[in-house]
Amino acid sequence: MNEELLKVEHLTKKFEDNVVLDDISFTVHKGEVIVIVGPSGCGKSTMLRCINALEPVQGGRITIDGDEIVYGSKNLSSLRQKIGMVFQSYDLFPHLNVLDNILLAPMKAQKRKKDEVAKEAVELLERVGLRDKAKSFPRQLSGGQKQRVAIVRALCMHPEMMLFDEVTAALDPEMVREVLDVILGLAKGGMTMIIVTHEMQFARAVADRVLFLENGSIIEDSEPDTFFESPKTERAKEFLNIFNFERSKEK
Ligand code: ADP
Ligand code: MG
Repeated sequence: MNEELLKVEHLTKKFEDNVVLDDISFTVHKGEVIVIVGPSGCGKSTMLRCINALEPVQGGRITIDGDEIVYGSKNLSSLRQKIGMVFQSYDLFPHLNVLDNILLAPMKAQKRKKDEVAKEAVELLERVGLRDKAKSFPRQLSGGQKQRVAIVRALCMHPEMMLFDEVTAALDPEMVREVLDVILGLAKGGMTMIIVTHEMQFARAVADRVLFLENGSIIEDSEPDTFFESPKTERAKEFLNIFNFERSKEK
């Protein structure tokens, strides 16, 4: 097993009295792909937001490369650069073209030279099939294209790991594939990732481990074949049955 990269230990997160994450612990090793599944409202997004220090936590600790990630701390910006995050809503700046959207953070936060970042940005755009869109504005792109730009923008910061929160949930079905293929490519390239998704076939294909979250607790932590073929808990069985039912309806 590769070395540990991210460690979540006894994480507890509350919104007032509402305990949203209840004593969560897991470790992500370098190069590992963790998929998190679970019903709506179980705390998936909140967990990713805590890992990216977008939320204060009420207990436990999160470390990357041994450094603790603390909401509001001074060294946060350098720690946060180790983690790239892509959300459901691609928050590109509407007044900047694709290339300028990508260049912004590496130039501002990492003080890198424009030429060097632009060269890399164009290479990454090529890799996701969007080389010809460098000068386009977000409004001229489809949802799937915007989401691929958002992924490139995160990659251009050279993160040590990527977090994906339901990045295809708002896309039309024909665009889902093109975005998932980019993520599969990252997995093949060895990127460490935590992926929240409702795309179960994709989850099975990409995951090294599946965490099933319910009511703020991890109730299963399994290899994908085990999780999808013979889940240990009744709750996971019920959850997966809903997806099988949806699929059989589509046929
Ligand atoms: P999921 O991503 O699994 O659907 P979330 O992490 O978005 O779930 O939400 C988990 C729980 O936390 C829900 O009950 C939600 O209502 C609550 N929650 C999320 N964000 C906030 C917030 N900013 N303030 C109060 N409650 C919140
Ligand atoms: Mg969510």
